[in-house]
Amino acid sequence: MSRRATGAWALGATVAGVGVGLAARHALPALTGVSFVRDHLPSIAGIGAPDHTAITFDDGPDPASTPAFLEALDALGWKATFFMLGSMVDASPGLAAEVVAAGHEVGVHAYEHTSMLRRSARSARADIARTTDRIANVTGVEPVWFRPPYGIVSGGALRAARELELRTVLWTAWGRDWRPVATPETVVADLRKGRLAGGTVLLHDSDCTSAPGSWRSALGALPLIADELAAQGLTAGPLGAHAIPAS
Ligand SMILES: [Zn+2]
Repeated sequence: MSRRATGAWALGATVAGVGVGLAARHALPALTGVSFVRDHLPSIAGIGAPDHTAITFDDGPDPASTPAFLEALDALGWKATFFMLGSMVDASPGLAAEVVAAGHEVGVHAYEHTSMLRRSARSARADIARTTDRIANVTGVEPVWFRPPYGIVSGGALRAARELELRTVLWTAWGRDWRPVATPETVVADLRKGRLAGGTVLLHDSDCTSAPGSWRSALGALPLIADELAAQGLTAGPLGAHAIPAS
């Protein structure tokens, strides 16, 4: 996701609301079919064990910010899932490996931060496959998760992800941390508006597609999120520990 998602976040926002209200008018024409989305919506939204919250980060790895997230997560004793951009992995392969060495999961975001609706099915598959290969080569771990840029899923991208044995997961709560006005407090307030219990939290460990320095709001929010989850009796972890039902 990023600040440039305005107007194009229809499915992500719909999924985040999880009413199965298919108000995703912008995205529907490119989807494989309404029944597919309805049948798979809870898993695509990232709904898992009710006493658990999945913590996810998009757009890294970024040498300017990701190390600070690794440090903060270590201090909290949390493991998370990092949806990486292939271009960022190629720019900082050692850092991508460091994320995995620290015990975190890696997922596929895209090679370049381009909406899958702007790609043909063939182009979407090539982009997802290329990113998967780059992450696997650099980290030694085959990613199992996929989250398209802006949370926009196209039929071609969904099919490609399935063929590549990747599970597509969006989110149920976002911190809107990509905005220039975001602060740790607004991030937590925005997350509270979504679903935390059994849900998936979207944050960013890089500002490469958003307002410069905006990652600091997400970083500063982490201890506050920990307090919020503790108050709700929720534990935090990566998607792999989230018990999302198979789709
Ligand atoms: Zn993104």
